[in-house]
Amino acid sequence: MGDSGKIKVAILGATGAVGQRFVQMLSRHPRFEPSTLAASERSAGKAYGEAVHWILPGGIPEGISDQTVLPTDPERIQEQLVFSALDSTTAKVTEAAFRRAGRIVVSNASSFRMDPEVPLVIPEINGDHLSLVQDQKNQWGGAIVTNPNCSTIGLCLALEPLRREFGIRRVLVTTLQALSGAGHPGHASLDVLDNVLPEIRGEEEKLESEPAKIFGTRTPEGLVPYPLTTSAQCNRVPVRDGHLLSISVELEQKAPEEAVREAFMTYRSPLSGLGLHLAPESPVVLRNDFARPQPLLDRDASEGMAVTVGRLRECPILDYRFAALVHNTIRGAAGGTLLIAEVMAARGLV
Ligand code: NAP
Repeated sequence: MGDSGKIKVAILGATGAVGQRFVQMLSRHPRFEPSTLAASERSAGKAYGEAVHWILPGGIPEGISDQTVLPTDPERIQEQLVFSALDSTTAKVTEAAFRRAGRIVVSNASSFRMDPEVPLVIPEINGDHLSLVQDQKNQWGGAIVTNPNCSTIGLCLALEPLRREFGIRRVLVTTLQALSGAGHPGHASLDVLDNVLPEIRGEEEKLESEPAKIFGTRTPEGLVPYPLTTSAQCNRVPVRDGHLLSISVELEQKAPEEAVREAFMTYRSPLSGLGLHLAPESPVVLRNDFARPQPLLDRDASEGMAVTVGRLRECPILDYRFAALVHNTIRGAAGGTLLIAEVMAARGLV
């Protein structure tokens, strides 16, 4: 705990696209204080302002530029709560080392998402999976908790009102994903301007596997996956931030369009009342304007923490189809991870 009464936290990968979002969001967070910024050997030892190529509006928050970037080493980093924005190859080894050193790592990387010991959490949907943290602590001293893939978060939050009311069985999803999803510097401009890239390596597999774990049931024997089949096609488009998803869904219990619309409109966060800083009252916002959601207009809904849904109509193949939009570096990455940590702090897990 710092003098401010806030919990001191470390950010791994603090110079990257997601790391910068952590720095920005933590600079105005009431519970957490970013006291250590860590990155690769290329950046370690430099002042943050010198090591980072800052890409977010508003510039580097006050008091951060002069902080020295540390190497990503559990022996050099003392904070118990560690946010990871590392690439998945580095994360596999490094996050495991931090867990062995007794730290709680809340990660954006994909390395441990499908590990049966590790919770894959969207707090509004499966906060109860965080009970796996204690099992990991018993075994390793520390624990890893993961935030899903950025498109998976948009998909699952958009489906949750329907899953709760009617159950869901099959989903078709086509994504139009923003450039910031590829990190910084990401794609070469000549590859993406005036173009669409019809492949994002590994992304479709994540969208097809993660939802069944997230919607799964925690039992004494472990997590039982939810019976859902998802078919995904992913594209990179020349948009800065905000992933758009075209979704068709088959419901378990058939329902008229009015009831489906009502399910979206009446869905409220089960986290309300916990006094969490980043939890929107309505995590899913239905827009009736037929030309929405759009990345430019809707990605900042509830300061980037809400998913916007629109264009709801019947589907001639499955039951209903609609569009959903998620801010990939806020709700899809840093903001989603911070919300998990807020829930953990509220439950005394950190
Ligand atoms: P990025 O912009 O490429 O940033 C990578 C970060 O990792 C940089 O801070 C880099 O530090 C650091 N790093 C690289 N190699 C390292 C090493 N060997 N040891 C220690 N640090 C190392 O990537 P990103 O887009 O922020 O993504 C970070 C993670 O979040 C990835 O796992 C990604 O899949 C996931 N994610 C990204 C998004 C998104 O929208 N971008 C959304 C959800 C999840 P240097 O600057 O020193 O090289």
